[in-house]
Amino acid sequence: MKAIAISLLLMFPFSFIAQDCPILPHPLVYRTIPGEIQMLESLSLDFNSLPPNLIEQFKSTIALYHDVPLIDVKSKPLLIFKQAINVPLDSYSINVNEQIIITYSSSKACYYAFHSLMQLLKQNNEGYFIQKCFINDFPKFQWRGLHLDVSRHFFTVDEVKKYIDLMSIYKLNMFHWHLTDDQGWRIEIKKYPKLTEIGAWRDSTVNEHYTTTPRTYTKQRYGGFYTQEEIKEVVAYAAEKYITIVPEIEMPGHSRAALAAYPQYSCTGQQQNVPGLWGVFDDIFCAKEESILFLQDVLSEVIPLFPGTYIHVGGDEAPKTRWNKCEKCQSVIKEQKLKDEHELQSYFIQRMDTYLMKQGKKLIGWDEILEGGLSPNAAVMSWRGFEGGIEAARLGHDVVMSPGSHCYFDHYQGKGSDEPLAIGGFTNVEKVFNFNPIHSTMTRNEAAYVLGGQANLWTEYIQDFNKLMYMTYPRAIALSEALWCTEKTTYDVFEQSVIKYHFPLLKKLGVNFSQTILKPKITFKRTPKGVSLKIASNSATEVFKLNQDDEFIGTADFNIERVKKTVPIRYQFVSNETGIDRTIVVTKNPCLGVPINYITKPSDRYNSGDLTLVDGQFGARPWKGHEWIGFDTSVVVIEIDLLKKQKIDSLQISFLNDENSWIHLPVAIEFENSKTNVGFGITQYPCFVNEKQVVFIGKKVQKFRITIKTLDKIPLGMPGEGNQPWLFIDEISIKNK
Ligand SMILES: [Zn+2]
Repeated sequence: MKAIAISLLLMFPFSFIAQDCPILPHPLVYRTIPGEIQMLESLSLDFNSLPPNLIEQFKSTIALYHDVPLIDVKSKPLLIFKQAINVPLDSYSINVNEQIIITYSSSKACYYAFHSLMQLLKQNNEGYFIQKCFINDFPKFQWRGLHLDVSRHFFTVDEVKKYIDLMSIYKLNMFHWHLTDDQGWRIEIKKYPKLTEIGAWRDSTVNEHYTTTPRTYTKQRYGGFYTQEEIKEVVAYAAEKYITIVPEIEMPGHSRAALAAYPQYSCTGQQQNVPGLWGVFDDIFCAKEESILFLQDVLSEVIPLFPGTYIHVGGDEAPKTRWNKCEKCQSVIKEQKLKDEHELQSYFIQRMDTYLMKQGKKLIGWDEILEGGLSPNAAVMSWRGFEGGIEAARLGHDVVMSPGSHCYFDHYQGKGSDEPLAIGGFTNVEKVFNFNPIHSTMTRNEAAYVLGGQANLWTEYIQDFNKLMYMTYPRAIALSEALWCTEKTTYDVFEQSVIKYHFPLLKKLGVNFSQTILKPKITFKRTPKGVSLKIASNSATEVFKLNQDDEFIGTADFNIERVKKTVPIRYQFVSNETGIDRTIVVTKNPCLGVPINYITKPSDRYNSGDLTLVDGQFGARPWKGHEWIGFDTSVVVIEIDLLKKQKIDSLQISFLNDENSWIHLPVAIEFENSKTNVGFGITQYPCFVNEKQVVFIGKKVQKFRITIKTLDKIPLGMPGEGNQPWLFIDEISIKNK
């Protein structure tokens, strides 16, 4: 007997084992036991054993997954519930053996357990069955958030409810509802009816990417809003699924829609329309007393609608252009003895903080609210990276991490040209999976202030619910995995669970999710003679046609050697199985795959690996995030070794110009032969650097150094004015005839 017990222990050690598990996010402990329970036609329990609201929630939860009735029986029910005390917050366990015993710490935990149970249920010819198993589970973070911008594009009450349904399946619990922005005000405020009469509607919407020139517009009235009754309905709907709604009323920036309705609360008082263009606008709320009181009035109607603790007041991207020149703003600065416009913004936010505190609410804002001093009770949502969150935690403030690098689901999730238009950036499922809200540089003390994390769905390029689903799933499942799991599995295990169990579930639910992770992965590697291109399919039987000619199955490697003459080579992969059609152009040249030494280190946020600059591929325009290296310093020095001395005609360096994303062209480039510092001397290009800058060399070169200088600050009147601009480089190549 003893021997058997020991061997069982060896088979099921106490720590979590990565194994085939249908539940996502993965439970902390999941151990299968041989055998199954065949359930036949129904799921039975004693309705009196649970509070009535849970029975109702179970009924609506079952409906999401299966066609099984929940029935009330007094004797020998299949499902048995037990409440546990002295267990971690929101923890539950499920023991599937002769019966199904669910132990829970709170009704929320009981609800989570039921979702897990639904994901265990499988169907065969005889009906439903469940694999015998033991599960023990609780969440790592208390803020597991998903955001939705309903201003840039409007989503109906039914669509928002569907969004909430899916959040509940993946145990996400904070819904950040971005209700106001420049392009539309979406919440009824009874005292100020023009906010929705005027502010909820725009006359046009820009087509394609807003950096595309020439710009064209769809000249059609667009908009919508939620009445307070509808808001209450959604809040109650979410509460039944243990989801708290955090409303966002943006201030002082992103306020053009409000100012179109009430221009007297801007600095200039000028009448302007609700814009149909994306970006950051100069006209923001004036910091005068009347504007502050107006916004507090608005909040007084918002607060009673949302029972949650937090009210989000935005605070991001508020240019100080108008405040600089406004007499009223300047007089507030004087009266309040403030140093500058940043302190004025801090004063503005503090007024809201004090107001919200009096109403028993807590203010949360984007990390710009740190500038000019953080308001005493404010929590920070860190979006421009982890830094804002780290600083706020250091100062003893609560933090929700939502860095653009891992949490912006308006970025591209795949590298293929078939990905639908996105704002830019690259955040694939794996990157989201690897998100950890606790940054490696944080102390244990600082980490204690991190409430959790959140992904944001900005909808400039998300016109409808189908595209919203495409951008959200499966990335939101990876987010949940990152925020729920105390011990994470490997990405491969996670990806297989998504494909095997959750793609069918999402399909059944009619969700238009992205299947990008099914597509073959194409990777570049450095080789001694150049680079290699590897195409790897998820399927071992997938047949590809290369350049309409050669066929290969599943996975293949291609070696591409550097050559003296510059010549582009085209690889077109077509698959009948997945319909993938990807063309990659590699420009063979003497630089291909050579070593690069970054004297200036690239930013961690935009570093797709040092091969990026010499992989023979040009980055996508508009910017798709990958294939570019980003720097946030005003001088960038890079050394390149061609490995042997050779004559080169000219060098081409390509840069990104996307001023709306704070990415600017450099102003000067210098070259020197780094070995002797004489060579061809220094060639300086003081201005007018092009996106694909060619520099004539005409000399023998081996090792050389490039120094690139950017603007010190983004000029006034441009997005991000006064900040250090970004420099993005995608390729350094040699042009030889
Ligand atoms: Zn003003």
